[in-house]
This record gives sequence, structure tokens and C-alpha cells, in this order.
Amino acid sequence: SIPLGFFGGIGAASKKGILVKGGNYLEAINQIDTVVFDKTGTLTKGVFQVTGIHPAGSFTEEEVLEFAALAEFNSNHPIAQSVVQAYDQRLGNQLHQENITGFQEIAGHGVKVQYEGQEILAGNDKLMKQGRIDFQEWQEGGTVVYLAVSGKFAGTIVISDELKEDAKKTMQDLKQLGINKLVMLTGDNQETGQRVGRELSLDRVYAELLPADKVGILERIIQEKTSKKSVVFVGDGINDAPVLARADVGVAMGGLGSDAAIEAADIVLMTDEPAKLAEAVGIARKTRNVVW
Ligand code: ADP
Ligand code: MG
Repeated sequence: SIPLGFFGGIGAASKKGILVKGGNYLEAINQIDTVVFDKTGTLTKGVFQVTGIHPAGSFTEEEVLEFAALAEFNSNHPIAQSVVQAYDQRLGNQLHQENITGFQEIAGHGVKVQYEGQEILAGNDKLMKQGRIDFQEWQEGGTVVYLAVSGKFAGTIVISDELKEDAKKTMQDLKQLGINKLVMLTGDNQETGQRVGRELSLDRVYAELLPADKVGILERIIQEKTSKKSVVFVGDGINDAPVLARADVGVAMGGLGSDAAIEAADIVLMTDEPAKLAEAVGIARKTRNVVW
């Protein structure tokens, strides 16, 4: 017979903006071993503010911001949007975007374009190393975008993101529900990753990951879990579709998430609030009481 309680649970969840793609996922979140979160856009707002521009060599602050905005113009990454917005706010919307060609987005690294015969790279240390750029590593905290123009290091833009309002409460609620294994994965640098981990009292933080590394770590966590329990991954979806698909339960942020992520996910949180996951677990527990 069909367990009617599952349909009740799915209905109750959908009224709260939690779309569950099948009753089996409600049962699975009733039995959580570990919750693995992505950082940017999932636990943080994914809205970065530029907090510093540090030119190198003969470049000026204005040039650093302009070249970075040209490189980032065609990217949907939250980092890219913040750089373009900072350019618009400080230098006005005068970008010669019609002269940008050969845009390439390199997942977990950054972006590369051609502009009036020059090659611009904007991204992290991995991208600079890949392009054999002789760059100066930025030592202070924050998320960092390094810039290179025609093979020369041009400077550093420091940006920062904020925790979502409900991030801390989500971790407290999950612990209250007996879910203590809370992990975060990020492509961002160690310093920023570990700081967020401390702020949210997470068990483990893995940083400087490429999208493929995230799948590998998730697989390891799944191998180590208590049998019959599930490993949940919560992500905003930018580059995360393979991780969402690999998790026992993949949870996507519906507002920020890409179509691929929403497709790959088992549960979609329409309002992008991580606290909805704890609510979903609460609903799953009540549903279970009705079914059995
Ligand atoms: P996260 O794991 O935080 O969601 P991503 O996998 O999207 O991050 O990206 C990992 C890292 O790659 C970023 O922290 C950044 O250093 C770099 N990166 C990715 N896309 C861009 C971009 N468009 N511009 C600059 N840096 C980028
Ligand atoms: Mg992400």
C-alpha cells in the first residue's frame, strides 16, 4: 500500500517552500549521518563587496578595476557580478564590452578573455600558476581575485561575503535534531573557509577545492557513514550539479541555483534559506510518526 503520510509530508513541506521530489527523500532526511554544505551562495549570501584594490607594477587602481570588470563581464559567478558592480559604481558604465572576445570560464579558477589584443586573466592563485604569472600572493584575509594582463601581474582585488542571517541558527537547529556531523566544502581559500567554519562551529572544512574534488570528498564521506543513514549535500548550484547528483539527498537553493542544479537536486529550497533544511527534517520526523 502507498504510505499516505509521505504525501502529507510533501504537501506540508511545499507549503513552506520546500519542494521534495519523492517520499523516499523525506525518509532519507529522517536518517541523516552528515550534512555537507557548499559555502558561497549556500551559507553565505553570495553577494561580495569589494573591500580593497591593490595595483601592482605600473597599473593604477582604476585600470585594475577596469581590466577585472572586462574579464568578469560575461561570467555569472557571484565574484564576477561584484567586480562588475564595483566598476559601475566607481567608474561609471563605460566599459567597451563590445571589444571582449574569447571569454572562457575555468571552473574553480576564474576567467580569461581577450581585449584589444591583450589577454586578461582574473581568478585565484591556481589560475595565476596555470598562466605562469609571476604574482604576489595576497596575505591578508578575504576572498581574493588576482589580475594579469598580457602575462604581467596587474594587481589584487579583495572582496568579502557575509554569512546568511539564518546560517548560525541552522547549525544550532540541526544539532538540536541530533545531527552533529556538519561539514563545509569550498573552492575559496583556506583562511576564508576556516573562518566561516569557526563562526558556524562546523566539524570539518575542506577548502581550495575544484568542483571535481568536491565529488571525491563527498564519496569518501558516503563510504564512512553509518549504514542506512544518509549524507545530504546542500548547494547553490553554480558548478555543484555533479555533487548534488552524487549525494544520497541533494538539496539545491532554488532562487540562486542554476537549472542544472534544480534538475539534479532531490529537494529544492525555494527561498534559499539553509534553515529550511532543519524545517524539512522536522517535517520528515512528524511524517514518519504518521506513516508507521
Ligand atoms: P565555492 O566553492 O565557494 O562555491 P567556486 O567553486 O564557484 O566556489 O569557485 C572557487 C574559487 O574559484 C573561487 O573562490 C575563486 O577563487 C575562483 N573563481 C571561480 N570563478 C571565478 C570568477 N568568475 N572570478 C574570479 N575567481 C573565480
Ligand atoms: Mg558554489
